[in-house]
This record gives sequence, structure tokens and C-alpha cells, in this order.
Amino acid sequence: MDFKDTPAEAEFRAKARAFLDEHAERLAPGESAAGFMERDDPDLIKKSQAWQALKKDNGWACLTWPKEYGGQGLSSLESVVWNQEEGKYRTPPNVFSIGLGMMGPTIMAHGTDEQKERFLARMARGDDIWCQLFSEPAAGSDLAGLRTSAVRDGDDWVINGQKIWTTGATYCKWGMVITRSDPNAAKHDGLTYLIVDMESPGIEIRPIKQINGASGFNEVFFSDVRTPDSLRVGAVGDGWRGATTTLMNERASIGGGGGGLRAEDLLGLAKKVGRLDDSSVRQRIADFYVRASGLKYTGYRTQTAISRGSIPGPEASIGKLVGAPMMQELASFGIDLQGSAGVLIDRDFGCQDSYLGSPGMRIAGGTDEIMRDIIARRVLRLPTEPRVDKGVPFNQIPSGPPTP
Ligand SMILES: Cc1cc2nc3c(=O)[nH]c(=O)nc-3n(C[C@H](O)[C@H](O)[C@H](O)COP(=O)(O)OP(=O)(O)OC[C@H]3O[C@@H](n4cnc5c(N)ncnc54)[C@H](O)[C@@H]3O)c2cc1C
Repeated sequence: MDFKDTPAEAEFRAKARAFLDEHAERLAPGESAAGFMERDDPDLIKKSQAWQALKKDNGWACLTWPKEYGGQGLSSLESVVWNQEEGKYRTPPNVFSIGLGMMGPTIMAHGTDEQKERFLARMARGDDIWCQLFSEPAAGSDLAGLRTSAVRDGDDWVINGQKIWTTGATYCKWGMVITRSDPNAAKHDGLTYLIVDMESPGIEIRPIKQINGASGFNEVFFSDVRTPDSLRVGAVGDGWRGATTTLMNERASIGGGGGGLRAEDLLGLAKKVGRLDDSSVRQRIADFYVRASGLKYTGYRTQTAISRGSIPGPEASIGKLVGAPMMQELASFGIDLQGSAGVLIDRDFGCQDSYLGSPGMRIAGGTDEIMRDIIARRVLRLPTEPRVDKGVPFNQIPSGPPTP
């Protein structure tokens, strides 16, 4: 494959640059896009929404989404070109990745026409921000072990239970929640996927304080929360199918290596701290660069799959398994480069912020161990782990006493 821009791509890149030059500040050479996030800024979400709306109104949002759903109907290559260019500018944090990267594609694949009409265009413009209500205190890697219940009552579902690690729940308008609608069915069969208004009565959101001082994710408690059956995504009891679509898209977006410190940022940092003369430093940066390039081209395979209309395959798991630990190593090396100053927060490159946040990337959307398991089964075709719960009604699977 020739990675040089074709004339059409070069023209597209020039147009993207012209838009970005007009509306955003270009980062200086060597300046990192990761930087330090002013997370105490009360207007941060509004700024992100304004940037998304500006992009949407000018044809630069959701490039690969079909036009009928508020996208631009462009190819994944054009999306890659746009992302490369946008990454060179200082822009507000992207709080839409869960909606645009995971919830939107799930609604496109499994939602009703009415849901697509009602939600996708607003999601694309950033008018509504979405969260993913999957994980529970006793259901993370083993997501199908979830216990949050949904009981049909007239035209509504009534939801009770607890979710955890819900990114952005405090500022999201809509959430997509996996519930157990039939405890008599086998573990993966009794699940139903619902959309819920996060302002509904009965929802309580408790932020969780993280190691880097932020509260990016939350506990969410449901007490008799009602959501109409018209907001069900897919068939009753078939929620696992939708959950799988969401998770494959999540792995693809994390594996894509977006966000955080980049190998080229280390060059700028090494120059700044006067360590670029050291051949071992240069060698290490080159090593990161090579690995990042492999990751980038593997990411293109995923993008190609998406642009051909298929759900990302196991290569998305490879990308995440390599990309997330590399993010951690990059940040760790960035801190080392700064010597004793590495214990302080640097606002230019954001190494410390990246370092403290990067273990989460190894956990979110499937831990390293789970990624290895998927690769073992689906790529290497190794035998699966023994499953004692297969086919057993969920309410007959032995478990510990319910938490009080
Ligand atoms: C930054 C971040 C954001 C997140 N955002 C969201 C969100 O928006 N919405 C949401 O629903 N969830 C979210 N999560 C939760 C995330 O999906 C879970 O943390 C993840 O699936 C792991 O589940 P767990 O935390 O329950 O760990 P567990 O599943 O309890 O795992 C604990 C340890 O056991 C290992 N382990 C578990 N099972 C196996 C196995 N079969 N074989 C080998 N090892 C195993 C794991 O690898 C891990 O090391 C987020 C997490 C993070 C870190």
C-alpha cells in the first residue's frame, strides 16, 4: 500500500487545514497535543460541544457515518487524514467518543428507524452526550454476569441495580444500559439493551475520585427507573448481540491509539530537557516510533473493516493490547527524561497525567488478559477456557451471598 497522499487526499488535507487554521490554534513544533487538561474549567464540556457543533455544521464531524445519520459518508482514509490534521491543533477534549464511536454504531446496527432518526444527528452534532452503562461491581470482564434488572410494566421497563465506572455520567443526557430481563434464561440469553434518559427520576450518580485527581467515571444507581419499550435496542433477551457490537467498536477506538502522549512528543520533550544528544534516548524514541507505526497500520486495517461496513474484527483486540501498555511506557519514559522534575506535573507534555491515566486504558473495554484470551480463541483458534455456567439458567449459577 502506498501511504503517500493521492491528489484527492492532498486536496482534502488542504481543505481540513484551512478549516482548522481558521478556527483553532496550531500547536508549535514539538508541542504536545496531550498537554495538561484544565479539568477544573467549568465550561470545558460546553467548549467541547461548541467545537463539535462547529465541525458538524462545516462538514467535519462523523466523517465515516452515513449521510442519512448525520455523517459525511466519507472513507476511513479521509477520516484518518482529518484526525492527523486535527491532532496538530489545540482543541477541547473529545467527550463524544463513547457516543460517536460506540453507541452510534450500535444504534445504526441494531436500533429502530425511529431511534436512528431521533438520536443520531443530535449525537453527531454533540447536542447530546452519551454514556455506556455496562460494568457492575461484580460484572466487568465477565460482563454477561450482570445483575441490574429490567422488568416489563405496561409500555415501560423498570430498571433496578447498580452500574460502575460509567465515564461521563455526570454530563451525559443519554445512557445505553445492559439489563437482565430474564433471570431464568442462560447467562448470555436473558439480557436486554435499553436507552435511558440520564435525567430520569430514580437515577443517582456518584463520582469516583481517581489517582490523577479527576472524576472521569462514576457509580450509577437505578431505583425503579422507567424507560419506554420504544427505547429498547434489539430484541428482548438479545442484548448480548448489541453489547458485542458496542465492545468491538470500543476496542477499535481504544486500540486506534488516539489521545495521550505520542512517540513524536518525546522528541520535543528530549530536546527541551537537553537529552537528545544521548544515543540511548534517541534509540528508545525510535523504538517507540516503530511500534507506534505498526499500531497505526494495524489501526488502518480496523478502519478499513469499518469503512466496508463490517464490525471490527480481532485485529481491534491486537491494537488495544499493544497500544494501551505502550501509552503507559511512553509516559513513564517521558517522566524519566525529566529527571527529578518528573515528580511535578508538566503542563506542556502531560506525561504525569498520561502516566496516571494509562493503566485505565489497559483495563477499560477489556483488560490485557481478556484481550489475550480473545486473540487466543479467535485468532489462534486455541481451545476455550472451561465454562461451568454454559447453558445454566442465570439464577441457578452458584454465586456468593447478595451484597447488602
Ligand atoms: C478508564 C476507564 C473507563 C471506563 N469506562 C466505562 C464506562 O464508561 N462504562 C462501563 O460500563 N465500564 C467502564 N469501565 C469499566 C471497564 O469496562 C471494566 O473495568 C473492565 O471491563 C474490567 O472489569 P473489572 O474492573 O470488573 O475487573 P475484573 O473483571 O474483576 O478483573 C480483575 C482482574 O482479573 C483479571 N481477569 C478477569 N477475568 C479473567 C479471565 N477470564 N482470565 C484471566 N484474567 C481475568 C482481569 O484481567 C483483571 O486483571 C471503565 C474502566 C476504566 C478503567
